[in-house]
Amino acid sequence: MGKKGFILCVCQGTCPSFSKMDIFGVLSDVRREKLFDYVVLHPQLCVGDGEEFMKVLLSGDETEKLYIAACDPQMQCKMYRDAFEAVGFDKTHHFALDIRNKTTEEAVAAIKQLVELNP
Ligand code: SF4
Repeated sequence: MGKKGFILCVCQGTCPSFSKMDIFGVLSDVRREKLFDYVVLHPQLCVGDGEEFMKVLLSGDETEKLYIAACDPQMQCKMYRDAFEAVGFDKTHHFALDIRNKTTEEAVAAIKQLVELNP
């Protein structure tokens, strides 16, 4: 069975939208809950090297489902589309969550809910 991957993207860590949460606290909690096969922190997925990262990550064909907690879900779909198409990743297996302006607890709860709704 393919793996479930999780990426947390945080606008370089300097955006006020992410100031209420402890970024590493979110990742640690998500790991502890064993919601995914792997978790990754990326500072800026929507620029050139972020797209390159996505291609490298997905090119091995091992990730079946990719959960991304970042900004607006519709924006995410547009921003990652080229990378998904380049490696043949099924975009319906990308589950996007907006976690801006959430506390650590709120972010973790939202991530859990995302996985429950999209197992
Ligand atoms: S993908 Fe979204 S959260 Fe990540 S850097 Fe770009 S705008 Fe910010």
